[in-house]
Amino acid sequence: MIQDPLSLFKASLEGNDWGTAIIQINLKEKNYEVLLKNSNFSQLEKEFDFPNFLKNKISHYDFNTEIIYKTDGKVLETSFGHFDYPSGSKDFQFTKFVIRDITIKQKQEEEIAWRLRFELGVASSIQILIQKPSIRESLPQALYQLLYFTEMDSIFFLKNIATDESQKFEIWVNERKSTEYPLLPKKFETLDWKKEGINRWLHKLKNGKIIYLKKEKALPKEQWYFEESKAESILFIPVKFENKFLGIMGFQKYVPNFVIQHENLLIYQTVSRWMGLFVQRDSDLTELNRYKSTLESLILERTLDLSRTKEELERAYKAKTEFLAHVSHELRTPLNSIIGFSKLIQLPEGDVTGKEYLQYIYSGGTRLLKMINEILSLMKIESGQINILYSEFKPKEICRQSLELIQPQANAKGMEIRFFPPIQSKTIRSDSGKIQQILLNLLSNAIKYADHSYVEFHCEWSDFGVNFSVRDFGPGISQEDQKRIFHSFTRLNDDGKIEGTGLGLSISQGLAEKLGGSITLISHLGEGSTFILNIPENIK
Ligand code: ADP
Repeated sequence: MIQDPLSLFKASLEGNDWGTAIIQINLKEKNYEVLLKNSNFSQLEKEFDFPNFLKNKISHYDFNTEIIYKTDGKVLETSFGHFDYPSGSKDFQFTKFVIRDITIKQKQEEEIAWRLRFELGVASSIQILIQKPSIRESLPQALYQLLYFTEMDSIFFLKNIATDESQKFEIWVNERKSTEYPLLPKKFETLDWKKEGINRWLHKLKNGKIIYLKKEKALPKEQWYFEESKAESILFIPVKFENKFLGIMGFQKYVPNFVIQHENLLIYQTVSRWMGLFVQRDSDLTELNRYKSTLESLILERTLDLSRTKEELERAYKAKTEFLAHVSHELRTPLNSIIGFSKLIQLPEGDVTGKEYLQYIYSGGTRLLKMINEILSLMKIESGQINILYSEFKPKEICRQSLELIQPQANAKGMEIRFFPPIQSKTIRSDSGKIQQILLNLLSNAIKYADHSYVEFHCEWSDFGVNFSVRDFGPGISQEDQKRIFHSFTRLNDDGKIEGTGLGLSISQGLAEKLGGSITLISHLGEGSTFILNIPENIK
């Protein structure tokens, strides 16, 4: 059965949450008539003074959407439809008027906006904590920022500085939104929580629990706190790091009937956890700096000690060197006479024993003199008293002179010396005497310690100056012995058959270093040894 159009239209107004009505407005008379309305409209129009509201709108010719915030917390949105249809007379207008209950929607929007704001506050305060190096500086600013974005009225941070049983705090932050709220009194730094009746708060906080308390829920002995602080509700959160109780973060609200939502509580707790991290980081840094400065002063002290010890050692060493040099010098003079005179003494032809003794005196004396001379050289090198006499000369010449001097020793042992002169005949600037001294020592060693028909003597230019190499085909020197062979008084396999003091190589090395050069040894047991003396072209 076909319904009449009006009942169809009326039915179409039903079916949603909105209160809808078709209203005829008389603009001239400034009144109206509700022609049709759905059941929701009948409900919602009772929620406020609808007749008055509409009349007012008509008389002000204001047909804009309007939101009504009711005292019971409800929020209603009213809006007018278009006025064009149907227009019978100029004075009459028709409109679809809608009332919506947007309480929930409004609440949700507010909630989202508030949460965004809160999270913004948390983020910006954490940003401040991250950026500033010292928490003492950044914390008040960061927490003020946080407070500004939250629903709370005041904030404080009590840093736990207790070292023993007695409870001690330091107020690091004490901020409020308005000066009408009192700040946390200074006495909280040394407050005896037990005596003041609020020990259960501290106990809970130390155990990681929060205190969220309204004035009316507080115990009688705790009431004084609310009276003194004027707070209506308090939220105290422990700040901890790995179970260490670092302090208390406190929020207070000064209006009654205030409830913190569960989600917000979680955010406050998260912020406190962050705080724990920052406070701990700060005290770690302070500790580290303290260690650093103690370490620095310790190092300074030790350095002073060491330089004092070094000076003492140097003084002692100098005294020893001077003493040895002096003694050696004193010994040399009489020894020279002994050697000299032993040569001059003429014994009768037949006195074989006497001549033998005389020979002992002579060879013993020369050996002793050689040793004393070597000690003297070493002392001079070690005490830096060695003088270098510069001249320009050809390396080949110095080799020739050395060969001439060593020839008798080689001949005595029946050894040949094969000399390989340098191809270039350039000159070097160095101390020829010192180089000769080194070469003689190396050549003499090669002759002394090798049992082979010949010794090789090379002289060649390299990128770093001149290389003089003395190569023998003797027993060679093990890797281990190569390390200690340059130490003074070191002799390998000293069975007394070969004469020596163990000083030659250390003197040679000391001299080479003074000339800006070095001695390198290449040797393998059973394969002979090569000692290479490198001397720079020009001493720097
Ligand atoms: P000295 O020859 O007076 O003992 P050196 O300092 O010149 O003192 O040499 C130290 C030791 O190194 C020698 O006693 C010897 O054992 C070893 N040495 C030196 N040159 C050679 C060499 N060419 N071959 C084998 N051993 C050597």
